[in-house]
Amino acid sequence: MNNLNEFLGGRILDLKTLNPEIVGQLLELGSTIVPATFEKQQQLFCSRCLMRINNNNGSYCRSCLNMGKINTTDQLLISSTRLNFGFQKRPMTWNGTLTQSQQKVSKELIEAFYNQIDHLIWAVTGAGKTEMTFPLLSEIISSGKRVAFCSPRVDVCIELFPRISDAFPKTTIGLFHGKSEQPYMATQIVIATTHQLVRFEKAFDVLIVDEVDSYPLAGNIMLERAIDKSVKEIGNTYYLSATPPKELLEKVTAGQLGISKLYQRFHGHPLPEPKCHLLYKATNFLKINPRVKFTIKKLLNDNQRFMLFFPNIPQMKDFEKKLQQRFPKLKLISVSSKDPDRLKKVQLFRKNQVQAILTTTILERGVTFKNVTVIVIDADSQEFSKTSLIQIAGRAGRAADTYDDEVHFYYQNYNIQIKMACAEIKYLNWCAKNV
Ligand SMILES: [Zn+2]
Repeated sequence: MNNLNEFLGGRILDLKTLNPEIVGQLLELGSTIVPATFEKQQQLFCSRCLMRINNNNGSYCRSCLNMGKINTTDQLLISSTRLNFGFQKRPMTWNGTLTQSQQKVSKELIEAFYNQIDHLIWAVTGAGKTEMTFPLLSEIISSGKRVAFCSPRVDVCIELFPRISDAFPKTTIGLFHGKSEQPYMATQIVIATTHQLVRFEKAFDVLIVDEVDSYPLAGNIMLERAIDKSVKEIGNTYYLSATPPKELLEKVTAGQLGISKLYQRFHGHPLPEPKCHLLYKATNFLKINPRVKFTIKKLLNDNQRFMLFFPNIPQMKDFEKKLQQRFPKLKLISVSSKDPDRLKKVQLFRKNQVQAILTTTILERGVTFKNVTVIVIDADSQEFSKTSLIQIAGRAGRAADTYDDEVHFYYQNYNIQIKMACAEIKYLNWCAKNV
């Protein structure tokens, strides 16, 4: 007997890759076979990723090619979603406590689950979004339903997996992303990158999408369609963000989406407001601009660890070289999206084995360090959107005992992005006190 769990649960499978015996068993369990393409308004679409197939190259779908080539004449098997996860009365062993405002949001999430209404959670960076979803997850699991917790970012998924596994030790949980070696299983909780959702159809009772405004999800039509199609018709989706995109806020205004707002960090202290520094000369003036150098020297004297954010990799590398020349004793690392050792390096910083981490927007979110000064170099670069700057500033002050970590923005032009980011942080702090 084959382990059918490797196939079940609303998976979209390429029929030609399956052996006939398995196909027979899957069909008996209620799976269906569909053509790999469908026509709409005289155009051809891929049944897996729902993207249009370009006529010039119309023999296969290019959009989801990296998940295995699907030819237009192929057939797909959509596996049955009838899964039995058994019954758990109290699936959650997490015994942390939620603050009053977290509890309020947590209740709203459970209400949305029972009313099957899609819901947006706008919670400031460091509000404890993940923990707030735990009572919801518990409710979903004890109802015997299936949930996917997704993020566009692999790092976020990898960090989520042990936390959720610890909180729900008796529940089957799978972690799936492009680089994972764990084979697919029809688990009750699925933690995955949003890309993985392309492989599912009406598979989940509940879908939670974290960091909904972040790359590569924001503005990606294929991923937006994947989110829609992977949830069952009778089911609901939660969107989590500290910086929600305006499309979702418009849906809230139109009454299509519920909303919970959380302006307060879990420790009750305000968000650190960035200190803005206008530079009269470029960052690389005299190798390292004296004003920046002065700040770094002070951090070294205080033995304070820090993060330096750069708009791009070449600038980061150049600065790294100069910094190392000027301060040879400083232990530092640099990480970017192109770095295969990224996760290991971040771990070194987390364990206090290096004092400084130089990075790009890759670490703007999803990472939590205690006691860290955050510095943005060339904050006026186009790579730093308002959202990026808010997220980066949100890396500071995340621990209760160092809630007032400093944030510094260095720039030559005080542009609209910097202005809006600072204004929004101020506004959120005002709301935390007054709303
Ligand atoms: Zn496709």
